[in-house]
Amino acid sequence: MNDDPTAQATGDDRHARYLTGTEREDRLLEERIADIRRREVPLVLPTSNLGGAYQVPPSITTETIAHLRRYRVTEAVCFWLGTPGAEQRARISEIWVPEFTATPVSYDIQPLEMLRLKQHLDEKSLALLVQVHSHPGGAFHSRRDDLNAASPWPGFISVVVPDHGNISGGFWESVEIYELLGSASWKHLETREKLERFHDH
Ligand SMILES: [Zn+2]
Repeated sequence: MNDDPTAQATGDDRHARYLTGTEREDRLLEERIADIRRREVPLVLPTSNLGGAYQVPPSITTETIAHLRRYRVTEAVCFWLGTPGAEQRARISEIWVPEFTATPVSYDIQPLEMLRLKQHLDEKSLALLVQVHSHPGGAFHSRRDDLNAASPWPGFISVVVPDHGNISGGFWESVEIYELLGSASWKHLETREKLERFHDH
């Protein structure tokens, strides 16, 4: 057994030797962000809307589709912000588009963006309630989607939009919705539940 409390740091330092100056700075920054994330208040307000309804104005879904369609080759992502509200009725009031990189089958949000978002949420007293991302083909939750969610809190919603957002039917009929139950475990909402809980009024 290794009782040396500095063993971990020494190992990291040894690895860091192989990094360039910029990479080392990036890595230190990432570690700081991870540290802040561990200590700070969660992005989603503790008053979870698990199992609740969502009121999403048509302007939000229209703007979301327009955003996703701009990325013809890669996936795209955005967040919906709002207030959890009383009686299990959350209200979406804003779209937030983070800086992200993407491939045809994945996306990654820059770590600093989550800090920028948190600042915005604090200023406006809003909560991150929903993430929305596009797929090149069918809408489903990949293993990566299960693990890569922007929030770890039960009640967080993930909307997957098919065909780069080029949908011909109504928004709610075309998308698939998943609700986080906790620990990367998601519930896929069947059509009836989806249409009962998500609407524009
Ligand atoms: Zn996906």
